[in-house]
Amino acid sequence: MYAAILRTHGPIESDPLDYVEVPEPTPGPGEISIDVLACGVCRSNLHMIEGDWLPGTPASLPIIPGHEVVGRVKVLGPGVTNLAVGDRIGVQPIWSTCGLCIHCLTGNEQRCRARQITGETRDGGYAEVMLANAAYAYKIPDGLSDAEAAPLLCPGITAHGSVKKAQLSPGQKIGVFGVGGVGHMVLQMAALTGADVYAVTRSAAHRGLAEELGAKASYVPAGHEGGPVLPDASLDAAIVFAPSDHAVADAIRVVRPGGRVVLGVAQTVGPMDIGDEKTVVGSVLGSRWEMSEVLGLASDGKLRSVHEDFPLSEANLALSRLKSGDLLARAVLIPGA
Ligand SMILES: [Zn+2]
Ligand SMILES: [Zn+2]
Repeated sequence: MYAAILRTHGPIESDPLDYVEVPEPTPGPGEISIDVLACGVCRSNLHMIEGDWLPGTPASLPIIPGHEVVGRVKVLGPGVTNLAVGDRIGVQPIWSTCGLCIHCLTGNEQRCRARQITGETRDGGYAEVMLANAAYAYKIPDGLSDAEAAPLLCPGITAHGSVKKAQLSPGQKIGVFGVGGVGHMVLQMAALTGADVYAVTRSAAHRGLAEELGAKASYVPAGHEGGPVLPDASLDAAIVFAPSDHAVADAIRVVRPGGRVVLGVAQTVGPMDIGDEKTVVGSVLGSRWEMSEVLGLASDGKLRSVHEDFPLSEANLALSRLKSGDLLARAVLIPGA
């Protein structure tokens, strides 16, 4: 089988992923192998490939990246009874968890310290075939195409978790900072709560997309030209997926005293006035149950995923386009395209 494999970290401009033939993996107990149909391209993949992601990530080299995967079950490993050969399934970043710790036992398995991460501690979906854990595979609803379903497995669940943590009520005002692969889904899910949604982005193309997806209006961050800027303390909450410390500071500025700011990307939180009693909360992924809710929303037509497809052999190109900021939403790799 062919895969886009990372052997040595390097800037994406140096084409660090090698598209080569590698041995096809065989599923162990509780595992399945899948023929990959589509795999989303995540900003965290870019960081891992360039070598500036979380410490200890990837667990080892070489590694096959990719954690937003749709595929068809090819081989069942010993003991797998919940899936059949030919089922179309999805794999999200959480490849497995321990099932025993306080996080796993309280519905927050995404926080499990013993979790395995697809494409970081286990080979991922930038490949024609990959292994998945059968207990962490999701049947993909029939109405969704492979490429539109793939981004639900990471941006979709990530957006869902962040909107829950914003604790919105109907009629509240929320700002969404960053309208990219995740932000375009955050906008839609925030609107489903009945809140009024405002987009904040430097890109005119992204402001257009935001309004098409239900934002009431769109703004530029403070200090930028090209559009209006949100007034101080004008919103109840903000969710930040723009990869910039400036966006975090701006989100804290526009939220009213007592309001909430949800951070979905690792950023520095600058000075805060404690007298304003604002809450800043981090958010990462979500549980298997929440993942099923996201697939249900998309299947019901309440959540749209905007994607741009590339052949798997052009993974370096897709990642370069992500880095340079000229993707409208999510890049998706298609094996055999
Ligand atoms: Zn991702
Ligand atoms: Zn656990």
